[in-house]
Amino acid sequence: MALIVHKYGGTSMGSTERIRNVAKRVAKWVRAGHQMVVVPSAMSGETNRLLGLAKELAPSQASAAYGRELDMLAATGEQASSALLALALQAEGVEAVSYAGWQVQVLTDSSYTKARIEHIDDKRVRADLDAGKVVVITGFQGVDDAGNITTLGRGGSDTSAVAVAAALKAAECLIYTDVDGVYTTDPRVEPDARRLKTVSFEEMLEMASLGSKVLQIRSVEFAGKYKVPLRVLSSFTPWDIDIQEEASSGTLITFEEDENMEQAVVSGIAFNRDEAKISVLGVPDKPGIAYQILGAVADANIEVDVIIQNLSKNGMTDFSFTVHRNDYNKTIDLLNGKVLPELGASTVEGDAKICKVSIVGIGMRSHVGVASKMFRVLSEEGINIQMISTSEIKTSVVIDEKYMELAVRALHKAFDLDQNAA
Ligand code: ADP
Ligand code: ASP
Ligand code: MG
Repeated sequence: MALIVHKYGGTSMGSTERIRNVAKRVAKWVRAGHQMVVVPSAMSGETNRLLGLAKELAPSQASAAYGRELDMLAATGEQASSALLALALQAEGVEAVSYAGWQVQVLTDSSYTKARIEHIDDKRVRADLDAGKVVVITGFQGVDDAGNITTLGRGGSDTSAVAVAAALKAAECLIYTDVDGVYTTDPRVEPDARRLKTVSFEEMLEMASLGSKVLQIRSVEFAGKYKVPLRVLSSFTPWDIDIQEEASSGTLITFEEDENMEQAVVSGIAFNRDEAKISVLGVPDKPGIAYQILGAVADANIEVDVIIQNLSKNGMTDFSFTVHRNDYNKTIDLLNGKVLPELGASTVEGDAKICKVSIVGIGMRSHVGVASKMFRVLSEEGINIQMISTSEIKTSVVIDEKYMELAVRALHKAFDLDQNAA
């Protein structure tokens, strides 16, 4: 008997029929003798619907008062799906109880819409488990120390599940979703993408941070920090498949480098359409300009990703960086309003129609020429690279958004990711 955490995403919870299916699957695990905690997402489309209503009534604002109400609102999606799942479990003859984040409690900081989990109290959950109940805990939400409901950022139910698994020292955290594992790239963009049986924690961390939304990045960080055994698998298999078969399906996130790893130089390709590029042109090239520009951006709580500063010509230089698309207008206004006059720069230009495409693989540590191969493949497709950023196990390029699918497919093929692993 083991304590297992299951997480079901929005599509997996998308209708009463699907919720019934989840309940039958969980009941199967209970009957196999496991203690079960289940973390559901809101039914698919619900979070978007709720946030859409908010937008209709009030334009988005950076204020804490606005963020607080968004979280009050968005958290209802998971509250509803959790209660529905507990009811469906009861209908299957399984004792079940659902809790919202504030009831558990899942304590977070107060950064509304992107709160971080600080602590999870396990007392109530443990008492229910010991009494033989399945405990359903809302994904995506928590409560701050002043009692305000918070949410963890889009896709945050993954993080709730892994954090709950860490707090309860669960034997495993299974992330059930609408694909049957982690693929070499998003199978919706490249139909030849291949499922990975295992992926290293470090690669998963990079892929998640570079845009593969199959796992929210913070969930991977949690799994790494607390060594939570983590598997991504499909909720679309028949609920009554053999439990051993189910438990070994999908993709396992591994913490040891050489344990059965598929040793490809490049393991996966990630892409991100959520960024925008900003260029400050004609900046007098002197010490402190990066600080003047990026310091002001950071002070406004805007995260910067890829950065380049061009060679200076006649004492002038250009400085470009990317931010999340949601922060695009805010950043342009900030630069035009305050920073540009102080810098004596000539203009600010922006381009929201860009994307970032990245190749990821721990094999890149020990192989040279991987990045240059990436650049060659893109040049052969006539794709212009606007920015480059590298780390030990990834290379990212910023390109025109319209070439994203072409770039992903060309790179997928060039790095043999469509071939079966040995
Ligand atoms: P859930 O609602 O279950 O949390 P998400 O939509 O958040 O599901 O994540 C699953 C989706 O992630 C898949 O449908 C797929 O399109 C996308 N995805 C992106 N990159 C990958 C990848 N490398 N492997 C698998 N799926 C990926
Ligand atoms: N319901 C939330 C979202 O749509 C959290 C999640 O699904 O993980 O982002
Ligand atoms: Mg998700």
